[in-house]
Amino acid sequence: MTERLYYDDAYLWKFEAEVTAAREGRKAGTWEIALNRSAFYPTSGGQPFDTGCLRFEGGEACVTDVEVDREGEVWHTTDRMIPAGAHVNGEIDGERRTDHMEQHGGEHMIAGALWEKLGGVTIGLHLGAEDSSIDADLPEGRTHLTEEEIRLLEDTVNARIRADAPIRCWFPTAEELETLPLRKKPTVSEHIRVVAMGDFEMVACGGTHPASTGRIGLVKITSVIPAKGKARITFVCGGRAVRLFQTYMRSADKAGAALSCPVEKLSRAASDLKGRLAEAERKARVFETADILRKIQAAETAEDLPGITLAALTMEETDAKATAAAVSDYIAGKGKLLLLATGERLTFARSADVRIDMNGLIKRVGRGGGRPDMASGAGIPECVGVARKILMHEYRG
Ligand SMILES: [Zn+2]
Repeated sequence: MTERLYYDDAYLWKFEAEVTAAREGRKAGTWEIALNRSAFYPTSGGQPFDTGCLRFEGGEACVTDVEVDREGEVWHTTDRMIPAGAHVNGEIDGERRTDHMEQHGGEHMIAGALWEKLGGVTIGLHLGAEDSSIDADLPEGRTHLTEEEIRLLEDTVNARIRADAPIRCWFPTAEELETLPLRKKPTVSEHIRVVAMGDFEMVACGGTHPASTGRIGLVKITSVIPAKGKARITFVCGGRAVRLFQTYMRSADKAGAALSCPVEKLSRAASDLKGRLAEAERKARVFETADILRKIQAAETAEDLPGITLAALTMEETDAKATAAAVSDYIAGKGKLLLLATGERLTFARSADVRIDMNGLIKRVGRGGGRPDMASGAGIPECVGVARKILMHEYRG
């Protein structure tokens, strides 16, 4: 069983150890190295593994994965073989570990506040590359939190961070464990390790934690959505929260400058702009509809088919809604037949009193379909000429 050095000191980046076993890794060109003692954290409890290196007499091996087996042996996946018995100097990536401790520590704080303030019980932690999440069982089966509840959690947690309360981890005796006010029952029955943060969070946990709540820095909940009957709370902590704030501020400042308004009034300005844009689009569509209708009427020929006014024309690409409106207007009249290509879109349509099947016609010249009175599809502009020839051939008196 590997001695876990991070249990006593979560800030121990460098350590010395002996290789107790070495074997080929699952991936070609990798090795798995066991040490008598290690500061490397193996993936467990939702917290990902540490990376780093193991230096030995023959050089340096990169640690790319760390796992713990059922016997408590920690296996370090490396890119080089280190023989059993070798002395190694290990060094873990402190930046990666610090980030993980900030996210993990913040998760404890949110879980503790959720339990205390809202009676919610959290299940599991997913610590991702961008953000992290916990699923919460809320009273009455709720799967969401109100804006006020999210604010309450954030304010509670961040006030406790600013209070910089100590965080303590230890292995209590069975007798002591009985007396501890743990937030929830431990999932293991022996070697139970407890973490206590100030007097507001106490739970069994084998993970790595900052030395005090102040070192979590900042906690921001980014979303709460329903997931599998629970409320999934996504959040960022520490350096990630600061970077998120910087990104949002930069983006908000630029948007504010573009809309000539202060950041606090951005949402109002954006919604005003959206309303004005929709109105402008509606007006533009009215003009475009009238323009398309004029062009259709200008293309009319009355002499070709008996009792039918035919308009066959091609246009540049047009707005789909404006085209549909113009076509509807046109065929509302009597005896109208329209063969229209706008860009690569074909629309064949006719008035209710004209007995020619538009669906059949469009299928003969292009791709598409529809009803007997109106069909649409795709085809080259020349399809219009071909369709006109078919009509001339088959329906001219
Ligand atoms: Zn923990």
